Amino acid sequence: MQNPVRHFENAGRVESEDATSLIELYKSVADLLASRGEYKQAYEHLRYALELATDRVQQPQVPQQFRLEVDRLRRENAEAREQSIRDALTASYNRRYLDERLLEVVELQGGIPSGGLAVALVDLDWFKSVNDTYGHLVGDRVLQQVVELLQVGLPDGGFCARYGGEEFVLMLPGVDGVTATATAEAARARIEQFPWSSIVIGLRVTVSIGVAHQPPADGRTPVNPEQQLRSADGLLYTAKQSGRNAVAYRVGGEVRLSGAPVRRPR
Ligand code: GH3
Ligand code: MG
Ligand code: MG
Repeated sequence: MQNPVRHFENAGRVESEDATSLIELYKSVADLLASRGEYKQAYEHLRYALELATDRVQQPQVPQQFRLEVDRLRRENAEAREQSIRDALTASYNRRYLDERLLEVVELQGGIPSGGLAVALVDLDWFKSVNDTYGHLVGDRVLQQVVELLQVGLPDGGFCARYGGEEFVLMLPGVDGVTATATAEAARARIEQFPWSSIVIGLRVTVSIGVAHQPPADGRTPVNPEQQLRSADGLLYTAKQSGRNAVAYRVGGEVRLSGAPVRRPR
């Protein structure tokens, strides 16, 4: 890449304020380039910054073209980051983002907000037969709509991520067990009641959910979201076994169900 300082060498003499901001710009570009793995160019930019910092006698003005380049790189970097953490079909967060956030929780032991952390694992019911009956395009449309419905009313810092296939995770930080269960049950009911026939006549979609809640870290029990995911998976299995369209959760040691099973004679 051409050195913009050299390129604009005759642009004029300058104030030291401009030089400082130019050095900062070089460092920003170097960071951006390094985050894209373009280490050689990043190194060049750092070298320019160093040159400027050690020789402030003849400093050029920050050229407009250079500012535009920094803006473009910043934008491209933000877009690339966004794309890397989103699922292409549903635009929900993807597994990579979920893993990053779970790792953060583990590293921030004790940093769980008051209330604790809940993890809900959501799986579409009989989804294979939706594809078999109506085709994959309708199946894809259903997944997109389900994500929209899952994202309603999440607590601050909460998010929905595609765990894989037709399974999604809701991360619900800072909520107590009752709120976590109510949030999952509201999502289940919203999906059951959505007018699916507006997509294709006869279509019906329901989900089953397992919710695992962990109270705030007390300094003795480490926060373990991986363990919570496993526990949510076990509860999801219980919800499926109960006949589907259900939420399974634990109160004390006891597993409870909400949703369709409570309306079904057992
Ligand atoms: P269960 O109630 O036990 O969960 O039954 P199910 O049919 O939902 O479960 P199964 O695991 O048998 O089938 C999951 C289906 O999800 C199979 C697969 O083709 C479909 N699926 C996964 N990802 C996608 C996708 O991106 N688009 C579409 N259209 N279908 C998908
Ligand atoms: Mg599944
Ligand atoms: Mg399924």
